Amino acid sequence: MSQQKPNLHFETLAIHEGQAPDPATGAVIVPIYQTSTYVQEELGKHKGYEYSRTGNPTRKALEECLASLEGGKFGLAFGSGMAAESTVINLFSQGDHLLVSDDVYGGTFRLFQRVFTRYGLTFSFVDARDTKNFEKGLKKETKGIWIETPTNPLLKIVDLEWVAQFAKKNNLLSICDNTFGTPFFQQPLHWGIDVVVHSTTKYLGGHSDVVGGAVITNRTDLFEALKFHQNAVGGVPGPFDAWLVLRGLKTLALRMVQHEKNAKAIAEMLAHDSRVERVNYPGLSSHPQHALAKKQMSGFSGMISFDLKGGLSASRLLLKNTQLFSLAESLGGVESLIEHPASMTHASLPPEVRQQLGIGDGLIRLSVGIEHEADLVADLKNALDKIR
Ligand SMILES: *Cc1c(COP(=O)(O)O)cnc(C)c1O
Repeated sequence: MSQQKPNLHFETLAIHEGQAPDPATGAVIVPIYQTSTYVQEELGKHKGYEYSRTGNPTRKALEECLASLEGGKFGLAFGSGMAAESTVINLFSQGDHLLVSDDVYGGTFRLFQRVFTRYGLTFSFVDARDTKNFEKGLKKETKGIWIETPTNPLLKIVDLEWVAQFAKKNNLLSICDNTFGTPFFQQPLHWGIDVVVHSTTKYLGGHSDVVGGAVITNRTDLFEALKFHQNAVGGVPGPFDAWLVLRGLKTLALRMVQHEKNAKAIAEMLAHDSRVERVNYPGLSSHPQHALAKKQMSGFSGMISFDLKGGLSASRLLLKNTQLFSLAESLGGVESLIEHPASMTHASLPPEVRQQLGIGDGLIRLSVGIEHEADLVADLKNALDKIR
């Protein structure tokens, strides 16, 4: 459990929470406790650790730090975002139904539809921009509501306060994937959401060098159930991976400021470019849900998507001609990435689902890095000029 210090700010917590100097040596940085087991002085007498699936000091430091950044009491770290999500879904039982916002991460859709439906769970995917769709989808066996905001790749916004209240009224467990927003810009627990999940692979790790996940909650009952499943199912990160995420967190605040500054400049440039049909960035005043984004986010993060005129052939030319934006999946690292959701990150969605969502052949997604803004703008302009 993290010691809550409400007087400390995000930037300070990111560097210090859970990370007191090492009691054995005074090391300023939490060591990588690369061990699977721990010696017991006598039967039943140990220093709080028995086996590293159950607990590891490097992981514990990360878990406490993550909890504090989300304004939560309890954090749990996992070997990937998907391991974190699977562990949350383990809280549900055969026959339960979940409401899910429709353009969730492709891997989330796949996990729900192709793995957990085989265990007797059912899922309804609804356009969560209109909360009435959740009301319409509610069934007597509905036990959970799973949202992502901003969504991937279309950057739709879901009303956190409304979802939390709707969940409470109907006895549902509310879960928010906060990977895109990050706790620096958005804290779902503050609005009453029960559980936050993360792919720490993205902004929290921040350097494209580690895969990891996290779950944060304020509820003791949920923490205990999640902790049980973390240990029982076993999707934990190794000590080195936990350490890499912990190191990433130290600069999260600085990085997010620059990600957002660059993304804003690029979104504005794209919005004025004749080769671009539409830009999706919640920080633009033209975003249809800009007011809601402003209410629940203190900044708009570094993800942008946009529709190019000219479909697949225009997309191919753009993707071929950027120099700084690398063509790759994933997001949230210091370097800028560009990708084509229809054939890359969202290829696992059935074509009719993609079409219904608006993930067409002209849709491009950017993960804007922390390079210099002018270089990134110039790189994209140059590549846009190559579209004939
Ligand atoms: C990447 C991602 C995940 C999955 O996380 P992994 O670390 O790749 O397992 C889940 N949700 C969102 C929004 C993501 O971007």
